Amino acid sequence: MNENLTADRPTFVTHLECSLTGEHYAADQLHNLSRAGRPLLVRYDLDAVRAALPRDTLAARATDLWRWRELLPVRATRNIVSLGEIETPLIPLPLSAGPNVWVKDEGRLPTGSFKARGLVMAVAMAKELGVTRIAMPTNGNAGAALAAYATRVGIETIVFCPDDTPEVNVREIAAQGARVWRVNGLIDDCGAIVAKGTAEGRWFDFSTLKEPYRIEGKKTMGLELVAQLGWRLPKAIFYPTGGGTGLIGMWKAFDELEALGWTGAERPRMYAVQASGCAPIVRAFEAGEEHAERWEDAQTVAAGIRVPRAVGDFLILRAVRASGGKALAVGDPAILKAVDDAARRDGLLLCPEGGATLAAYRQALRDGEVDEDEEVVLFNCATGLKYPLPAAEQRLDRHGVIDFDAL
Ligand SMILES: *Cc1c(COP(=O)(O)O)cnc(C)c1O
Repeated sequence: MNENLTADRPTFVTHLECSLTGEHYAADQLHNLSRAGRPLLVRYDLDAVRAALPRDTLAARATDLWRWRELLPVRATRNIVSLGEIETPLIPLPLSAGPNVWVKDEGRLPTGSFKARGLVMAVAMAKELGVTRIAMPTNGNAGAALAAYATRVGIETIVFCPDDTPEVNVREIAAQGARVWRVNGLIDDCGAIVAKGTAEGRWFDFSTLKEPYRIEGKKTMGLELVAQLGWRLPKAIFYPTGGGTGLIGMWKAFDELEALGWTGAERPRMYAVQASGCAPIVRAFEAGEEHAERWEDAQTVAAGIRVPRAVGDFLILRAVRASGGKALAVGDPAILKAVDDAARRDGLLLCPEGGATLAAYRQALRDGEVDEDEEVVLFNCATGLKYPLPAAEQRLDRHGVIDFDAL
């Protein structure tokens, strides 16, 4: 049995804080957005963590997500829910990307995507704070992760997804015990239905960044990555950006690691990657804006990043700018080619969103934005097996004459 799941450990949350105004909110109470309508960030007594948890103690633990317990919000060990949130591997892509490029392959997590990191934390906190019914808009993977974890702790879930959500996502959500509805609109249209029901007191709103704890779960990507690299940071990170939870979470993780004295002031350049058919953050980045307007007629094969409007837009833009990175858009043909190349040449099947990070890396290399010698991490956020694959139709008649030379 993994000690990380069973050992009682001290916790260090002090309060929550509005990401826009800095206004404080009490910990250990249910919250959605701040009074200013912005995401809440969880704050810890990092000096006390520093005193209580030497880096070597942490390093000696099993490497799963719950090793980071002192930097996570769950108070009571009994509220931990788990389906096996392993440390995801860093896989080199020597032929399709280059000698210094690593893919953090998040497709190995429960429910096949990194949404598991965010939702395992948010559901544990929902359990801790007494929530009994949750609703969520999703492009697929978040709904699947929510369904799995909420079902495991006996919380009722109602999930709304665009009607062209990948079929496997809709079915896995239903299979894992949620009630799922296909809606004739995009994810923010689904979000409007959730908001309406929330206003009527029907359920707790689990939309991206509208509850404070998904960021904390996603933050473990940054903690884990740094630990895996031997307490170093890579030169650049390419992150497929929809709601931006992971990018915001990792940026927060790097600050917390520095405050603990476990790393220094260095930061990777953060590249927020979007599809050119839905690139609100890229447009705002290029225009020098602090907020991003809704992207109309959003279209891309990369369903996970088809997010026309992000409530944490300013947090994504601030992190990208502070890091010296950029927001980059890549077209669907480049995304599909990247998926194809990584699979054919390096044997790693990426999801389209992961393919987008490879396509963006290639573009950045051509533009002189990154150097071949720099250590770079791309995020593959879901298993490629969840998405439609190109047809393979060749058949053999075992009763006929087989031309072995032609096989
Ligand atoms: C949700 C999702 C994203 C976007 O992640 P955010 O952190 O919300 O920006 C990217 N790819 C896949 C496969 C996803 O499911």
